[in-house]
Amino acid sequence: MQKQLTNTTLFMDAIRKYAEVQPDHLACVFQPRAIDTAQQLSYQQLYQQIEARSQLMVSLGYHNKVVALLYPSGLDFVINFLACLNSGVIAVPLNVTRNAKQLERTIDIIENANVCAILTTEDTKIQLCDQLQEIVDGRKHNFAWLTEQNETTLSQSLSVVKASDIAFIQYTSGSTSSPKGVMVSHSNIVDNMKAIELSCGLQKGVVLGGWLPQFHDMGLIGHMLSPLYLGGTYIFMPPMNFIQRPSRWLQLISHYRIFCSAAPNFGYEHCVKLISDREDLTDLDLSCWKVALNGSEPVSAKTMAAFAQKFSPYGFNVQSFFPSYGMAETTLLVSGGPLQSGISVLNLDKDSLSKGLVTQAQVGVDIVCCGEISPHFTLKIVDPDTLQECSKNQVGEIWLNGDSVAQGYLNNPVRTKTDFQAMLASDNAKQYLRTGDLGFVVNNQLYVTGRIKEVLIIRGRNLYPYDIERTCNSYPYANGGNGTSVFTYQCGTETKLGAIVEINKRFLATIDEQVMTQDINALVFAQHEISFDKLLVTRPGTIPKTTSGKVKRAACATLI
Ligand code: ATP
Ligand code: MG
Repeated sequence: MQKQLTNTTLFMDAIRKYAEVQPDHLACVFQPRAIDTAQQLSYQQLYQQIEARSQLMVSLGYHNKVVALLYPSGLDFVINFLACLNSGVIAVPLNVTRNAKQLERTIDIIENANVCAILTTEDTKIQLCDQLQEIVDGRKHNFAWLTEQNETTLSQSLSVVKASDIAFIQYTSGSTSSPKGVMVSHSNIVDNMKAIELSCGLQKGVVLGGWLPQFHDMGLIGHMLSPLYLGGTYIFMPPMNFIQRPSRWLQLISHYRIFCSAAPNFGYEHCVKLISDREDLTDLDLSCWKVALNGSEPVSAKTMAAFAQKFSPYGFNVQSFFPSYGMAETTLLVSGGPLQSGISVLNLDKDSLSKGLVTQAQVGVDIVCCGEISPHFTLKIVDPDTLQECSKNQVGEIWLNGDSVAQGYLNNPVRTKTDFQAMLASDNAKQYLRTGDLGFVVNNQLYVTGRIKEVLIIRGRNLYPYDIERTCNSYPYANGGNGTSVFTYQCGTETKLGAIVEINKRFLATIDEQVMTQDINALVFAQHEISFDKLLVTRPGTIPKTTSGKVKRAACATLI
């Protein structure tokens, strides 16, 4: 086991130390557009700015209060988030909304969290105020704002921050229901920093980053905090730059010699689909990329194979694939690695799996291994109905205990009790987090099969949507990836099976819809012996998604 490199109790202790011992070392590099537009901060510059903002926040009386951070990607977010950690102000990182409808949902969160001020840039404030005008009761929201124009000359002494204090609130993606505010403590952050360091094999001074949004757990904890905790460099660009032209992500990795960069499966698929052979990739060298972390959604072996085939000529090593499992409720990482172990897949018998049993087969359902369980957790596989621990070959709910498990959901005592304080039928001494995810363990390696809420129970069989979605995606005109959603819906007392399949624009106008529907139904019936009660073939962009790009399967039911 690798020795732990850092031994601090608060995240900001580490930053303070680096500002002293390596003041000129690069802490963050933000690249809004081309390489020559990069904006950067050394540890000394970063720390000075954090101190100034911390004093301002304390002088305004924000200590122990909740503030919303609504920043576009950039250094302002890094400075203000860390200033909150430094001064004991509880940050809620949120996405900058693009329209009034999105802002209404954000206002729900702001109200749920009892936010006392919105921290943002002056430009974004103007944009948000315009959106507020469009909301019917927008004027009733009389928010306090804090932008770069607020300055203080007062020197304030900062209050003591304790490791057990709530450090920030991470809202979940909202894939299955409304986003919930996870209360992450200072000691949760430090524990998960150590878990990430160990699982990903990170060394002091690591260069880490990519395009993930800063307001979500994987971008915030994984990309932003983990290199800073190790005195390394956080390299990042706006997510939109990646979405518009995915080769920019790979160029960023290659140029800055990034060691670890993460994305959900769709990020890798986006590269496979959109990076054309005509693009000039002559200088691309991906040999530095030792941890190509893939998490937050089911990992597809097919996508990984296509990615490796396309980019191994540019130095990408297939052993660098690093499937990983985690969530906001565990601060971030639960399993992954070890370093350079690549992809391993188990083929499971379909019928056994539909009964919750793990039986290996020659042909069957592929489940990609999500890596070794971090020693920072005790993980149990539990029958969600009887609350008994499952036997070795059974699929059950993933339960977790450990110092990275967060403190509960903000202003939601009911869900905090059911989800964070669960107990096994046989042992009422230890509390566990119920993840709502199903999986099994082989040789201390975790396999995730899906979410309880998304399991399709059709005539007594338990089917996973991802498996059927993959079959739909094998239809030649399907747009693929997250462009397919399979879900159940209620029709009176009956549970029915529905699907939305987005079709590649080129074919949508030329091929008859009825023919496509019949063909997809036939494909699915041949492989799964089920047929859809309703199947919608439609244009790309129809399926509702979270701000992190995850399919909202339950929300699809309202569209058919
Ligand atoms: P909500 O809880 O609001 O419905 P969410 O669960 O998608 O949203 P996140 O915390 O962003 O919110 O995501 C964590 C979830 O993502 C996990 O609980 C799990 O369902 C899924 N997940 C993460 N990693 C993997 C993985 N490697 N394979 C399959 N699913 C994964
Ligand atoms: Mg969740």
